[in-house]
Amino acid sequence: SIPVLTIDGPSGAGKGTVSRIVASRLGWHYLDSGALYRAVGVAASWANLDISDPAALVRCTFDTRVSFSDAEHGLRVLVNDVDATDELRLETTGAVASAIAAFPEVRSALKERQRAFRQPPGLVADGRDMGTVIFPDAPFKVFLTASAEERAKRRYKQLKDKGVSVTLDGLLREILARDARDAQRTVAPLRPAEDAVLIDTTGLDIEQVVERVLALVNP
Ligand code: C5P
Repeated sequence: SIPVLTIDGPSGAGKGTVSRIVASRLGWHYLDSGALYRAVGVAASWANLDISDPAALVRCTFDTRVSFSDAEHGLRVLVNDVDATDELRLETTGAVASAIAAFPEVRSALKERQRAFRQPPGLVADGRDMGTVIFPDAPFKVFLTASAEERAKRRYKQLKDKGVSVTLDGLLREILARDARDAQRTVAPLRPAEDAVLIDTTGLDIEQVVERVLALVNP
């Protein structure tokens, strides 16, 4: 079967950056599952939906087109054909994504869409439940962690580089709140798969993490 490398972990652990680099070195496809939850959240707020109504969210999930395109300055994400890349990155969008991701109905509405990314020659899948729920049979599983302070610092730098104004303290609080919600929800709570390799990225640079992950796939 088509190989999958799952990369799960809390926000700001470096999953996105590491997954994209690893996918490009392996020549595999890349699934940013968080972007799907974020896209549904953004589409729901564009449509003024009640984000506590799972039936409305499920309809929105099926109605929302999400496409990824490689542009000169990185990956762009189109939501219903509108470039929503910048809006998707905001921490407020992350909070909405985390709220709607707690509904089992929304999670199952996105299940097949995520599995469809499994195409030859292989897939790197980035998220919270890639190794536990979406691709439990994946031959390669990684769980990335880092201290909350380090994760907040990385997000801060990312957002500042994009010209978004945030404070480190505010971001740390938001990240801790989002992680707590992701870890405590009853459906697909954030946790490592039993067969995942744990990598603590605190104090490691991106290249060091990439090397460790690649070594699992090509020992
Ligand atoms: O990874 P990212 O920060 O973009 O994800 C945004 C939110 O979407 C997470 O906080 C989480 O609640 C949710 N999510 C999820 N399962 C995934 C990916 C993201 O529940 N596989």
